[in-house]
Amino acid sequence: MAYKKNDYLTVTIEDMGSGGEGIGKVEGFTLFVKDAVIGDTAQVKLVKVKKNYAYARLEKVLTPSPYRVEPVCSTYRQCGGCQLQVLSYERQLVFKQQKVRNDLIHIGGFAPELVDQVMEPIIGMDNPLRYRNKAQYPVGTDREGNPVAGFYAGRTHSIIPNINCCLGAEENEEILRIILDYMREYKVPAYDETTGQGLIRHVLIRKGFCSGELMVCLVINHSQGKGIPSQKSAQKEFLPGQQDLLDRLTKLPGMTSISVSVNTERTNVIMGEEIHILWGQPTISDTIHVRDMQKEGYPLTGRELTFHISPLSFYQVNPVQTEKLYSLVLEYAGLTGRETVWDLYCGIGTISLFLAGQAGKVYGVEIIPQAIEDARENARENGIANAEFWVGKAEEVLPEFYEKLSGGEMSGADMLHPDVIVVDPPRKGCDEACLDTMLKMQPERIVYVSCDPATLARDLKVLCEGGYEIGRVRPTDMFGNSVHVETVCLLSNRKSDMKVRL
Ligand code: SAH
Repeated sequence: MAYKKNDYLTVTIEDMGSGGEGIGKVEGFTLFVKDAVIGDTAQVKLVKVKKNYAYARLEKVLTPSPYRVEPVCSTYRQCGGCQLQVLSYERQLVFKQQKVRNDLIHIGGFAPELVDQVMEPIIGMDNPLRYRNKAQYPVGTDREGNPVAGFYAGRTHSIIPNINCCLGAEENEEILRIILDYMREYKVPAYDETTGQGLIRHVLIRKGFCSGELMVCLVINHSQGKGIPSQKSAQKEFLPGQQDLLDRLTKLPGMTSISVSVNTERTNVIMGEEIHILWGQPTISDTIHVRDMQKEGYPLTGRELTFHISPLSFYQVNPVQTEKLYSLVLEYAGLTGRETVWDLYCGIGTISLFLAGQAGKVYGVEIIPQAIEDARENARENGIANAEFWVGKAEEVLPEFYEKLSGGEMSGADMLHPDVIVVDPPRKGCDEACLDTMLKMQPERIVYVSCDPATLARDLKVLCEGGYEIGRVRPTDMFGNSVHVETVCLLSNRKSDMKVRL
């Protein structure tokens, strides 16, 4: 039977795809249904029909799945952010565990028996709401000409107004209300992507969950002050009625840093490279505690570090789960106090500095210069002297060191053959040049922290073909209600295993 666009069908959802879409079959014809949940029987409307499959829209749930729950947020269907909000949290964890397992098998080419042997159960969240310490709200103008902030409707750039995302901090709403009121009163135009006109593009808000400190950074389409050192910019007017806005924002408890980021480029990149502090500190601080991952409830071990975070630096968005993630990384790294460790994609040096407490020497590499400035400052402030940091791409810095060290231009046998390499790349995973050099360096162990199981599986295949084997894999839920999943993987060098046995 030939199906066509706008046909209505009844389907039972039997599986879920990696983007969280429901998958079901009608007479051998596969349907992908956004917002449908495994176990639902639903009426759907075909929106795009191919030869053997079609994309469909959920019209009506006829028999709800036992895993279906009420959405917390009224705009969840239009928003691209929470793909799994109507799936019960327990079932979200099952989905994520299976996603990692499937990718290891189908993309990594690992045997299912091996995967089941090495995989440990996902570390779930106690509360999958209000966990994000960072929000980036786009600002626009509604049909009546009022400034609005919210989120982009899935796969578009039209803004759905919502200043109280239920994943973010409670304070976001009040901060955004102040900014929108101010924009209305002073007639400050929001940026318009189609014309490139208007001033305010985005609002970045960060909160230190332990410190209670708040950071607000307005991304503006304004070249005034470009090139002027940020120390002097306090006197500069970047915004009409700037002092009034500052007076209102600084009344909020915890407000610590207010800045603007200048972005005059017509791109999708949110932040501009230039930051000007308008009020307060250039950074906020937050504390991360190490937990004992072997004990129930993951109790605190007493070890903790405090970090400074600037607007342009990466910092894990879920601080509660970050403690578990980092504690797992430390456990997998298996340090005794003497080892040399490379920490690639180190951000502001969070993992590096925890490793440094248990290692001989740690070398961190990160592409964002401000993050490395933060990392060095964080090392100093925490009294850590055995960590060094370099700005650059991991796939360039590591090979350069390797060439110099192996060619005798530089001395440092420990750097050439470290005991452990930790990598924590962005979603696209590690570059081949980085993986190749890691293989040449032959560390005893590699700890791979990944925010995309597909690229993790791809990279693990390369590392395992190059002489490593997977010892342990544990997904961690850092992004409740979304389809994203973080994974930590321990690899060991088969060759050094031989050495030990001989
Ligand atoms: N380990 C850190 C950061 C992880 S996020 C933490 O837990 O906080 C990934 C980091 O990789 C980001 O800071 C990003 O700026 C950086 N990055 C992206 N591409 C890179 C590259 N090619 N080489 C080095 N760092 C890179």
